[in-house]
Amino acid sequence: MCVCVLLLAHLCLSALFDPSVYFIGNILHLYIMPSLLYYPVPVQAVLSEGGVPQRPVVFVSRPALMNRVREKLYHLQKEPGWVTVFGMAGSGKSVLAAEAVRDHALITECFPGGVHWLSVGQLDRSDLLVRIQSLCFRLEQQSQEKDPSSSLHRPPGSLEEAKERLRFLMLRRYPRSLLILDDIWDSSVLKAFDIQCRVLLTTRDRSLADCVSGSKSEVAVESGLEEDQALEILALYVNGKPQRLPEQARSIVRECKGSPLVVSLIGALLREFPDRWAYYLHTLQQKKFKRIRKSSSYDYDALDQAMAASIQVLSEEHRERYIDLTVLEKDVKVPAKVLSVLWDLEPEEVEDVLQDFVNKSLLFRDCHHRPYLYYLHDLQLDFLAEMNRSGLESLHTKVVRQYQQRYSQGPPTSGDEECLYWFRFLTYHMAKANLTQELCSLMFSLDWVRTKAQIMGPAHLINDYVEYGAILDKENSEVRGQFQEFLSLNGHQLEQRPFPDVVQLALSQPDSSEVYRQALLQAQERATRG
Ligand code: ADP
Repeated sequence: MCVCVLLLAHLCLSALFDPSVYFIGNILHLYIMPSLLYYPVPVQAVLSEGGVPQRPVVFVSRPALMNRVREKLYHLQKEPGWVTVFGMAGSGKSVLAAEAVRDHALITECFPGGVHWLSVGQLDRSDLLVRIQSLCFRLEQQSQEKDPSSSLHRPPGSLEEAKERLRFLMLRRYPRSLLILDDIWDSSVLKAFDIQCRVLLTTRDRSLADCVSGSKSEVAVESGLEEDQALEILALYVNGKPQRLPEQARSIVRECKGSPLVVSLIGALLREFPDRWAYYLHTLQQKKFKRIRKSSSYDYDALDQAMAASIQVLSEEHRERYIDLTVLEKDVKVPAKVLSVLWDLEPEEVEDVLQDFVNKSLLFRDCHHRPYLYYLHDLQLDFLAEMNRSGLESLHTKVVRQYQQRYSQGPPTSGDEECLYWFRFLTYHMAKANLTQELCSLMFSLDWVRTKAQIMGPAHLINDYVEYGAILDKENSEVRGQFQEFLSLNGHQLEQRPFPDVVQLALSQPDSSEVYRQALLQAQERATRG
């Protein structure tokens, strides 16, 4: 018994210093005394040997997500294949990938050959060659340490040669190992690793793995943390308790929708300037993303860089279309048909463009709704608005002009999502476009009032007159008042179904009212038509 304890103590101590004992540890872990030998140190040795980054100093775990990744990785136990972890910039994909393999059982059972991390990012062919060369060198060197009879080769001279060298190394020297490719942007880059091994890749582009062969699975990383997790990050940065954080903490989390990147960037800044809660909240609200930066191991040290990178990889045509989305309101989901008006394209073509954005984590799709609805993350929208601040008016003008072209015969009346969008937001686009004339002639029209009330009820309409009151007043405050009065007097009637005769209602307005004048004209027209 005593000898046994001594032997175990010796092995554990050795494992602390010598990664090779890891395998003995595995055997013991699996077959002898699992609870005693469940030490994180050997795992850490395997991971650092493979270049897997350490946990960030401030870290919160996302157990459900992590388990999903691990579950997919377990599928690679028996055969090679790909696991894609995808999500928007700064959603925590790399941290998650590194965390998922920080697991003794997973490594022992699925990847006894080790885990090899390669940071990829945006590269051209020559950069890619250099990355694969250094990966091959690392693998050869480690394998030589274990088996001195194996020799080091000269670096591969071309991408094709590098791919073959890597294939050889992964199949012969490191069978059943996992290759983690972090931050892949380009399918041509991914093809260089299509060598029938086990790969976990992180990317913003969900569709990347379509270009490679073998079994594939994917895990979507939600863009934001839960509120309490995000508060925990802030608290850890300022060495406080989440309950004791100032009220601005919650607002910061709400403002960035719990983005791990933003919360941790701001947390790191607060650590240096602990009195700046209100300032950083304001900075975020004012979309001054350039000021939210810190020097860190994260590739993009400022938020604007992280987001701009995704847009830069779009084709020029798609980039222009993406910029058009700047005009959307926060938290508003739109059907493809609205964009088919904006871009003058068939809905199917629009769906294809949107699919590209969704795949690149630049846009979100609500699949619970048919037809699908699309929306932007607040941070993306803020970033777009900031980027296109000077062009905002003309972008809104484009929406109005495209609408007018499509609906020159009168507004849509189908009552579907697209029709609702126009009734809700046409006035908003006109106001933002500074198209005062257009806005007034729309809102001073009994026809518009009737159709909008019929489709949406009177509440939105009343709200429009309040919201755009100042603009309308510049044109004619009396008429604005007359329409508003008509609506407040008849609001309850306009909620009735069957829908009342608006001309009749309007005829009961004072005869000096513009509402009365238009109603009278329509009544006379009706009479002449018989
Ligand atoms: P992505 O790979 O999606 O662009 P990263 O994984 O690199 O994002 O994360 C971006 C930053 O967000 C990290 O540098 C880190 O500061 C922070 N972060 C991400 N995940 C976590 C987490 N689980 N706990 C704490 N901070 C995190």
